Amino acid sequence: MATKQFKAESKRLLEMMINSIYTQREIFLRELISNASDAIDKIYYKALTDDSLVFNKEDYYIKLSVNKEGRTLTISDTGIGMTEEDLENNLGVIAKSGSLAFKNENELQDGHNIIGQFGVGFYSAFMVADRVTVISKALGSDTAFEWTSEGAEGYTIQPAVKDSVGTDIILHIKENTEEDSYDEYLEEYRLKAIIKKYSDFIRYPIKMDIMSNKLKEGTESEYEEVREEQTVNSMVPIWRKNKSELTDEDYNNFYAEKRYGFDQPLKHIHISADGAVVYNAILYIPEKTPFDYYTKEYEKGLELYSNGVLIMEKCGDLLPDYFSFVKGMVDSEDLSLNISREMLQHDRQLTLIAKNIKNKIKSQLQSMLKDEREQYEQFYSSFARQLKFGIYNDYGMNKDMLQDLLMFYSSKEQKLVTLDEYVSRMPEDQKYIYYAAGGSVERINKLPQTEMVKDKGYEILYFTDDVDEFAIKMLMSYKEKEFKSVSSGDLGIENEADQVSEEEENENKALFEAMQELLGGKVKSVRASKRLKSHPVCLTAEGDLTIEMEKILQQMPD
Ligand code: ADP
Ligand code: MG
Repeated sequence: MATKQFKAESKRLLEMMINSIYTQREIFLRELISNASDAIDKIYYKALTDDSLVFNKEDYYIKLSVNKEGRTLTISDTGIGMTEEDLENNLGVIAKSGSLAFKNENELQDGHNIIGQFGVGFYSAFMVADRVTVISKALGSDTAFEWTSEGAEGYTIQPAVKDSVGTDIILHIKENTEEDSYDEYLEEYRLKAIIKKYSDFIRYPIKMDIMSNKLKEGTESEYEEVREEQTVNSMVPIWRKNKSELTDEDYNNFYAEKRYGFDQPLKHIHISADGAVVYNAILYIPEKTPFDYYTKEYEKGLELYSNGVLIMEKCGDLLPDYFSFVKGMVDSEDLSLNISREMLQHDRQLTLIAKNIKNKIKSQLQSMLKDEREQYEQFYSSFARQLKFGIYNDYGMNKDMLQDLLMFYSSKEQKLVTLDEYVSRMPEDQKYIYYAAGGSVERINKLPQTEMVKDKGYEILYFTDDVDEFAIKMLMSYKEKEFKSVSSGDLGIENEADQVSEEEENENKALFEAMQELLGGKVKSVRASKRLKSHPVCLTAEGDLTIEMEKILQQMPD
C-alpha cells in the first residue's frame, strides 16, 4: 500500500504547527477532546432534523484509555465518525476544517456549539506522538477505516474493523529524550489534571478508568486496587447557568475553585452578552490586595475560553491596567480555539469584549459606591492606588472612566468623599477645589497653609497618598472646577483687605532680606502674608509643582 504524501503546503504547515503554534504540549489533549465533542455535536444536529435518528444522551461520551506497556493513549468518541473520504479530506489536508464545512452546509447560525473551524488542531497530536492511528466508522456506513501517519512523511488509509459508529484516536507516545519527558501523558492523574484544566466544561462526559483503592469484598480491612470508570469533567459551566439559579455561595466557590484569590470576593459580575458580540463572563472584584499586586510579578488578565474550552489562562488584553485587580473568565463562541497570542491582539471580537467588560466593571463599581458605601470603601482601601495610577499613566485620557471612582478624605466630613460630593457642596463664591498634600491626615491637619481656606469655610481634600497630587494634575479640573493646592501662592480667595500693602512689605524689608540670606538660597523669597492665623510662618510654592510633589520627585531614583 502506497503512502500518500501530505499536500506540499501541508507538510510545511505541519512542521510549523508542531514546533511553533502551540507553546504547551499538553494542549494536544484539549484539541483532540474538542474534536471528539464536535463529532458528537454533529450527530446531535443531524438528529434534530432526521426523524430516524434518536439522540440518547447516555450513548454519547468521550473515553480515554491508557496502555502503558504499549505506550498508547486512546481517545475514543461515539460521534459522527469519518468515511474514507473524510479521513482523506480532513486529516490529509492541513488547515482544512471538516467542522467549518459542516457548519456551512448545515447553515448553523449563532447558538451552535461546534468548536473547530481552523483545521489545525488535530496535528497537535504529533507534539507528543510519533505515530497516530485513527480508526473511524461514519454514521450510516458499513465499513470502518484506519488512517495512520508518523508525521510529515505522509499517511496511509486502509479498511479496518470497528463495530460501533465513532472514532478512536490512538497516539503512540514518544519515547523520553534527554531534554523531554513524554511519560506523563501515560499517567492517569496527569491526564485527569489536563482535562480538568482545559476541558472541564465540555458538555459530554469524558470518561477514564481510574485506579483506586477499594475495600476487598468480604473483608473489613483489606484493600485492593480496582479500575473504575469515572467521569472526569464537570460538564455544565457555571457561567452558562442562569443567574437566578445561582447563589452568592456558588460564585464564591467558583472563585475559590479557580484559585482566583485566597480571599472572599467582594462582588461578582455575571455577564451574558448577546449583542454585537456574544459572550459569557464571570468577573470578580477581590476584597484584598494580592500580596504581589504592586510588584512587577503581578500579571493581570482573565481566563479566556472558546466555547467552553480554555484557550488562555491570563488574557491581559481583556483588562485595562487600571482594572488589573479584576479576576475571572470570559467564554465566547466567536473566538477560535487555536488562535495564537499575537493574533488575539488584533482580534476584533476580543477588542469588543474588552471594551464591554471595562464598562461593566465601571458601572458595577459606581453602583457599589452609590448603594454600598462600606463595601466600596473596602474595595477602595485595597485598590485606590491603581485607579489613581491609571489616571496618571494615561495622562488623564481615562478621566471619564475613573474620576468618579475617586475618593479623598475631607476636612469637613472627616471621612472619604467623592469629587462629585465635594463640588455639589461648594459655596457659590468658591472658585477652586482645594486640596492639601501630606503623609497623613494628622500631619495635614497641622499644616498652617490649611488655615485660611478652612477659615473661609471651604472644604479641603486631603491627599495622603503620594500618587494623589500627580493624578489630580492630570485631571486638571472636575466639573469645570480647577484643583488648587492650599500651599500654592495664589489661593484665589484673598480680597483687598488680605493684600499686603507696599508699605507693610517695605516695613520689614531688611528683616526679610536677612532671613533669606540666612536660609542660603533654600527659599526664593521671604514675604509678608495675611493668610496665616495661628502660625508665624508657612511655605508656599510658585510654579506648577507643589512642595509635596517636589519632595516625592526628589525621593525617586533617577
Ligand atoms: P478543526 O477542529 O479546527 O476543524 P482539526 O485539525 O482539529 O480542525 O480537525 C480537522 C477535521 O477532522 C475536523 O474538522 C473534523 O472534520 C475531522 N475530525 C477530527 N477529529 C474527529 C473526530 N474525533 N471525529 C470526527 N471527525 C473528526
Ligand atoms: Mg479541532
